[in-house]
Amino acid sequence: MTNVRCKKCDACFDFEVGKIWFGERLEFEHMIRCVYCGVLTLNDVELTELGQTQVSALFFNEQE
Ligand SMILES: [Zn+2]
Repeated sequence: MTNVRCKKCDACFDFEVGKIWFGERLEFEHMIRCVYCGVLTLNDVELTELGQTQVSALFFNEQE
């Protein structure tokens, strides 16, 4: 689960993004869906502070 914020309505929620690819920008296996706005593109969401912590933990796990 990764904590994200919807830029459209400012809602924060946990989303099961599936596999995360660490390229030039993050890519998620699953489409993120906001309960209020529906399916979001990556431009419509940003990681919260909690989400960033979760993602960097995953990133460092992958480096091992
Ligand atoms: Zn939203």
